[in-house]
Formats: sequence, C-alpha cells, structure tokens
Amino acid sequence: MLQTVDVGERSLETYRGVAPGEILDEILRHAEDLRGARVLHLNATPYGGGVSELLRSLVPLLNDLGVAADWKVISGDDAFFHVTKTMHNALQGAARTLGEEEKHTYLKNSRQNAANLEEEYDFVFVHDPQPAAILPMRGRGEARWIWRCHIDTSSPERGVWEFLRGYLGDYDAAVFTMQEFVPPDLPVGRVEIIPPAIDPLSPKNLPLAESIARQVLDWIGVRLSQPFITQVSRFDPWKDPLGVIEAYRLVREEVPGLQLALVGSMALDDPEGWEIYRQIQEAATNDPLVHVFTNLTGVGNIEVNAFQRLSEVMVQKSIREGFGLVVSEALWKGTPVVAGRAGGIPLQMADGVGGILIESVEECAEAILQLLRDPRRAGELGARGRERVREHFLLPRLLLNELSLMEELAR
Ligand code: UDP
Repeated sequence: MLQTVDVGERSLETYRGVAPGEILDEILRHAEDLRGARVLHLNATPYGGGVSELLRSLVPLLNDLGVAADWKVISGDDAFFHVTKTMHNALQGAARTLGEEEKHTYLKNSRQNAANLEEEYDFVFVHDPQPAAILPMRGRGEARWIWRCHIDTSSPERGVWEFLRGYLGDYDAAVFTMQEFVPPDLPVGRVEIIPPAIDPLSPKNLPLAESIARQVLDWIGVRLSQPFITQVSRFDPWKDPLGVIEAYRLVREEVPGLQLALVGSMALDDPEGWEIYRQIQEAATNDPLVHVFTNLTGVGNIEVNAFQRLSEVMVQKSIREGFGLVVSEALWKGTPVVAGRAGGIPLQMADGVGGILIESVEECAEAILQLLRDPRRAGELGARGRERVREHFLLPRLLLNELSLMEELAR
C-alpha cells in the first residue's frame, strides 16, 4: 500500500471574509455534482516544497465539500530520488541526461508504486514527473487521470522529455501553471492552465501579531534591532541562494548592519539539497549577520510566517521557477518582494505591484537597496501585492478550478 498522508479538517466557510465571496459560492454550486466522488492526489513527498504545501490545504477542503479525497505519496530508494531530481532539472532545461540504468531505476520504482496503488478512484491527480509513469503501469481502472505539472517545462532537455512523454499518453488531461510551460509534442489532448495558490488560513499564512512574530524570531537568534532581508526556499540551484548572498554583500556595503536570513527546507525527494546547504554554510562562515535556518533545526511554518511579516524585503532570486508560492506568501503579508523574472513569478507581481523583478545579482542588490531606502514605496508595493494575491492566488480559486476540471472530465 502507498503511504496515506494524514490531514486535518477544514471548513470552506472559514474562508468567508478572507477570500472573494463569489468564488466560495461558485465552489458550493460545483461541489454538488461531485459529492461522493473519490479523488486521489498523488505526489512524492509529504513535506518540503510547494506541492505538499498545496495538498495539505486542498485535500481537507475537498473532504469538507463531500468529496472523498485522499493524499498518498509514492516511495522509492535513494537512487530513484536521484534520478527524479535529474529529471526535474533536465525538464527545467538543464543539460542533464538519463543513462539506461537510471531509466531502469525510474521504471522499477514506478512499477512497484503502481502495484502498491490498490484502491479505486474516480479522479487521480498525479503531481510532477516522479509518479507520472504509474498510470500506464497500473492501468486507468475507473478513474480519469490528470497529470499536474508544477515545473517550468517550456524548454526541456530533449532526451529526458522524450523518455517521460512516453508515459503520459494515457492521461485524460494535463495541467500547467502557465501556457508557456506546455512542452513541445505533449501527448495529452486536453490541457488546462491553472496557477497554484496559497492558503490564507494555514499556520504559515494566518495573521500573526507583530509581538509574537518578534518573539519567534528573537528566539532563534535574529537581531531585531537591526534590519533583515530573507529568502525562503528549498536549497536548490534554481533558487540561486549563492546569488542571494552575493547580492546581499553588495547591499551591505551601503547598509552595514543589514542581516540576511536564508531559510531552506530539505524535502524527502531532494537529495541535491544537502550539497547546496553545505555550499551556503561555507559562504556564510564567519559572518554573524548571515543566518542559515532549516526545517531540520526547527524552523517551520510559524517561523516562516514571522520572517515573511517582519523582513524589510523578501527575496526570491529564482533563475527558473514553476510558480514560487513564497512570493504570494510574502505579498499576502504586505511585504514587498525582490524576485527573479522567472516562470510564474511575474504572474504574481508586476513592476509596481508587489515589488521589483530582477535578472542579475547587481539588479537584485539595487532593487533591495531602493526598497530599504524608500520604506513608503516599499509599503505601497506590498499593499498592492496583497490585493493581487487576494484576487487571484488564494486557495479557493484553485479549488474552484480543479472542481470545474473534474466536472468537465466526468461528462
Ligand atoms: N518552505 C518552508 N520552509 C522552508 C522553505 C520553504 O516552509 O524552509 C515552503 C515555502 O513557504 C513554500 C514552499 O515551501 O510554501 C515552497 O514552495 P515554492 O512554490 O515557493 O517552491 P518549490 O519548493 O515548490 O519549488
């Protein structure tokens, strides 16, 4: 059996007054038709990264609507997760290929996972490439199958894409964050564009009094009497944490007491993270103003919430990005963001709304400096960003999009 992830109970009604009311009403209308439907969300990790973040919120809400939703994670050996990380990187355009043995590892683990998926469902959402090959190996059963791709697959490495696409042909639909991400020769007839969203009521995003946020950060060693900027993301080369340190060092020449916090999580399916973590620690050695925190040392949702509230500026210097939930998370707290012009980030913030988009270390430093020097403009950008998130990137909108898709697929 595949591992089922335990989730809490949620009620859609608690989103009234937080998310747009017309979306909540529409959800209730659509949910009528799907009452009792069995839905599975399948991914590779129960923690770390945006997909697990989404599912932890989405699955309980589906259940609240009378849909019988499960969240399960696949399993695999270390070799499998090395291969899937290579695939992830290659699909985002890195010049990485898969040898015969790596393909064999992927298929062997996929076959095992396919055999372990015993239950029957009406809809199966398969997230990202790690579990993608399960469908042709297991057979569709009674379900409609949806491949939900969260990464930027606009210009994938050819060989790896050819390999993966061989397992996608049976899907009923594929969902991408942006039209630009739809890869060449996708063998799936139906394509939907649905951007992710953040949960305004999760511990990471719910309102947190400033005094508590301050206590939380004081407790872990941030100097509250000095300003700080933060990047929150997996330790991944595409998130460019070393570039963040470079940009920060440039800014610090002008703002000597400025601190940098790099908050990163280690995900079960991300073996590369450890090496990047080592490189970051090396770059930060002997610098008491650079703080490196991880989920492994107890920095979790509440701490991230506090960082996103109290940082002068949040940084997300991605070079490639699927969506970048962290951008909406920061904007929801009214904090301005300096972020790479990559993937789904410009969708969330345009120049003048939310913060400043950048494309190099120098631009990043310049943008941070501008916002530090002009707190009024920073505040206005953050406030406009929050409005944009409220309108477009809160969880009920995502839920509505997915319910509509299921309804249409059931016809
Ligand atoms: N995150 C976290 N702690 C960390 C680093 C990341 O809780 O130390 C969360 C972050 O708040 C966000 C998610 O992990 O909710 C990352 O999602 P995003 O879409 O930004 O990037 P992904 O990891 O999916 O590429």
